Amino acid sequence: MQIKNEHYTGSWDMEKDVVIVGGGGAGLAAAVEATDAGAETIILEKQTRIWDSSTAISAGSFAFAGTDIQEKQGGRDSNDLFYKDLMSVGKQKNDPKLVQTYIEHQLNTYYWLKKLGVKWADFVSVVAGMSVPRAHLTDPLELVRILYRTARKQGALVFFQAPVIGLLIGERESVIGVNLQERTGATTRIRARKGVVLASGGFARDPRRLANINPKFAGVVATSGIGHTGDGLEMAEALGASVKDMEYVKPSFELHVNGNTSEDIALLFLSGGIIVNKKSQRYVNESISYKDTGLLTLDQPDAIGYQIIDQKIFERQVRLAKKSSIDFGLGLDDVKIRFLVKGDTIEELAHKIGLLPEALRKTVDRYNGYVDGGKDLEFGRATLAGNYGRPVKLDTPPFYSFETRAHFLSTYAGIAVDKDMHVLTRSGDIPGLYAAGEVVGGFHGDGYHSGAALSQAVVFGRLAGRNAANRQ
Ligand SMILES: Cc1cc2nc3c(=O)[nH]c(=O)nc-3n(C[C@H](O)[C@H](O)[C@H](O)COP(=O)(O)OP(=O)(O)OC[C@H]3O[C@@H](n4cnc5c(N)ncnc54)[C@H](O)[C@@H]3O)c2cc1C
Repeated sequence: MQIKNEHYTGSWDMEKDVVIVGGGGAGLAAAVEATDAGAETIILEKQTRIWDSSTAISAGSFAFAGTDIQEKQGGRDSNDLFYKDLMSVGKQKNDPKLVQTYIEHQLNTYYWLKKLGVKWADFVSVVAGMSVPRAHLTDPLELVRILYRTARKQGALVFFQAPVIGLLIGERESVIGVNLQERTGATTRIRARKGVVLASGGFARDPRRLANINPKFAGVVATSGIGHTGDGLEMAEALGASVKDMEYVKPSFELHVNGNTSEDIALLFLSGGIIVNKKSQRYVNESISYKDTGLLTLDQPDAIGYQIIDQKIFERQVRLAKKSSIDFGLGLDDVKIRFLVKGDTIEELAHKIGLLPEALRKTVDRYNGYVDGGKDLEFGRATLAGNYGRPVKLDTPPFYSFETRAHFLSTYAGIAVDKDMHVLTRSGDIPGLYAAGEVVGGFHGDGYHSGAALSQAVVFGRLAGRNAANRQ
């Protein structure tokens, strides 16, 4: 599919107020807000159904601060702390204004989703980047269904198998519509009286762009939604849009070597496990963002890391999985347990996974010594995840290993936008063009605060949809 924008002055096959490219979390949230604001709205989705988007296939962990669930669990969280965590995990490279915009709307978005009927698990967890538990779990497919039904009920039209192949440009380089490729190969021109919202996701399935960013990314597997080929990004770039965070693109460390969906993801190192390479050596502070760990893993032998845990971590994570029917990376459910290799001793485990027993024993003993001494002399691990929790010793047999590789589930970089989600060039905005969700850059900076990709998609989608609808 070739992406190409076009200057256009001819007639139209269809007219709407707001045209949304992509029917995932950002696009559906945009449609709910746009229709609520009274705009005639259409979503164009290139896949055949709503459950192929990254939002639908995700692990369903949303970062929010200040919610009723946190309060019930006795946690103290605030916009200030959340802002600090986002900036800190992004190594202060994130766009502070964009992060602030998100912060201003995150909590009301949680309640907005709840009011629409989204059900949240009744506990919160800590994942990478969090100072306090703020990962809110929901069934992502059900969330997508709720947004879809709401948008449809409010009058939005949704076309499937409707890939947008380019933007249509009018006077003063403003965006006035889109070109849609029909199944027959014919092109349909849809006018957007008020605005076009790019909500087409990231570029995890654009190997050429990834290899250009870093040749090491060439063979890294993608697990994102299958539509993530960077179409919206390409359209916006061709119009001169600025991009952000491209230099920080990294794969995530969490996928089992034989896995390829979110069910095959485990983050046991964030619950106290360690990560070793094929030489049985630790190579990272396990508490940092799993994006950073992903990049470091590409430099290890065969680009593999083994998550190693003991029985007490195993039992805690099994209990966590039982608390919620929703699958996520921290809990150990039957699917993930199937991937674990077990050994009664560290030496037996090493033998079973093909590592040198003596070497793994030494690494675990050294790590346990650091925990006892209160200081990790090699990698400086002082927490379980982000700024939360204290490391624990691996001393309770049996022991387990989860053989892990890095993968691209998301790209966390893209188009520059302002606080109203207008797409920005170096000299101003592109009239009529908005962006939201993973296609946007500048929010994550050089890192990734878990759960913030999903919540960002909905928060920014809502803003983009409403602002496009209200454009004069
Ligand atoms: C396995 C997995 C687990 C994840 N888990 C989490 C998690 O727990 N927490 C978290 O915060 N993040 C998670 N993420 C990341 C998060 O899901 C995404 O960043 C987020 O859902 C992106 O939302 P979006 O609306 O931008 O993209 P999507 O939801 O993917 O929607 C984009 C849509 O645009 C469509 N599209 C693309 N190009 C075109 C075109 N040219 N024309 C028409 N349609 C087009 C696509 O087909 C797609 O349906 C996960 C991702 C994956 C893959």
